[in-house]
Amino acid sequence: MESRTARRLRQLLLWGAGACLLVLFLPATVAVFVDARGHPYLTDRDRVPVEGAARLTPAELRRRWSGDLLGPPLDLPPDPGGEEGRYRRNLDAARDDLARGDVRHALESLRRLGQDRPGRPEALFLIAKVELERGHYAPAREAIEEILGTASPVADGWREAAAALADEIAAERALSESRPGARSPVRTRSSAHFRVTYDHRFARNDFGAAVLELLERVRSESLDRFGRRLRDPLAVKLYSRAHYLDRYGHRFGFATVGFYDGAIHVVSARHPRLELEALLVHEYLHALFHDALGSHRPFFLNEGIAESEEERVRGRSALSRRDWRELLEALRADGWIPLASLVRGFGGLEGGRSAAAYLESRAAVQLIENRFPGAVARWLERCAEGAHWEAAMEAETGWNLEQLERALSADVESRFVPDPLAAAGAQLSGAK
Ligand SMILES: [Zn+2]
Repeated sequence: MESRTARRLRQLLLWGAGACLLVLFLPATVAVFVDARGHPYLTDRDRVPVEGAARLTPAELRRRWSGDLLGPPLDLPPDPGGEEGRYRRNLDAARDDLARGDVRHALESLRRLGQDRPGRPEALFLIAKVELERGHYAPAREAIEEILGTASPVADGWREAAAALADEIAAERALSESRPGARSPVRTRSSAHFRVTYDHRFARNDFGAAVLELLERVRSESLDRFGRRLRDPLAVKLYSRAHYLDRYGHRFGFATVGFYDGAIHVVSARHPRLELEALLVHEYLHALFHDALGSHRPFFLNEGIAESEEERVRGRSALSRRDWRELLEALRADGWIPLASLVRGFGGLEGGRSAAAYLESRAAVQLIENRFPGAVARWLERCAEGAHWEAAMEAETGWNLEQLERALSADVESRFVPDPLAAAGAQLSGAK
């Protein structure tokens, strides 16, 4: 039910790296270069495509193109080694911590990096983004001021990005300081299917209409995909980040940006955009689920369906190679969370554990849908007609919960079959 801030961070952080995966799977002769003006070149050999272009490693690509959180690309030569290399490896490690949801550890290392290299903007910029995301405006502002106030030269792109972020922090902070007495009046917009309320001080007049339009699109797509709609109009409450944190920041054991409790509650920026649509899809699917089953349980299927649809809207219909790798590591290192323990809820899971629970849930739903196309819609229908969820799943897939779990772990393992040529080679050399 909860969309996690850590998960959002991961989404923001990681994959400018469709490009990164591409490089990993391309034949060894393919290389990516970038020239002095930042233009990329994909070549089928090692030769430098234009004068002054530098070859990028996959990690370098990720660093340059993960956009939103990192601001403009770094103007750095690849693989510098020494002090500089260490700084950048530590930066990457902190980014990986964030991706796993380990915000505390990531912030510790970023603060250390910021102190060790006071003239450098990268760690400070990340700190500011993460703190803003958490609603901690003072430390966010401090980190940004350090970038803007530094005496050493900062690349122009970074200075502009830092100034823009400073504005965003100031706006969010103004909103947070407007509460509780001076809260702006709640505005309402309704359609036949939704009743939208929001209290954004600076929202433009067409904000409510734009959100209703988004919701109608979500509704008709869900109807197409699952054949289901809600019988009654649905209340949708949008909050500025500050108001949301104020009211619901402590409601769950981990950070959230939305939930469904009969009404949809989500954090929204002033201008609706893809991020809001993704959150609305997620929570709308919880509403459809609850309508069909009369319950939030089984949680892992509830979250798995909501996550899959949310990720589809973001343009990521399938799990990434990195997701599968994480699942594989969980299986092999005793980090796997049994599905049976994810039926009643995700409560009590912390940090990376809750990220793992969401990932397993999404993988389970995708396995069902891949093997039995349309099964999720038919399963919802069976449940709506009164079948027990596990009986309905068995009817659609032939799997009870235990069998689903076995099929899922087999599916994960099967994606990492060792290269048969390499295995044959090993056998041959063993036979000599
Ligand atoms: Zn959810």
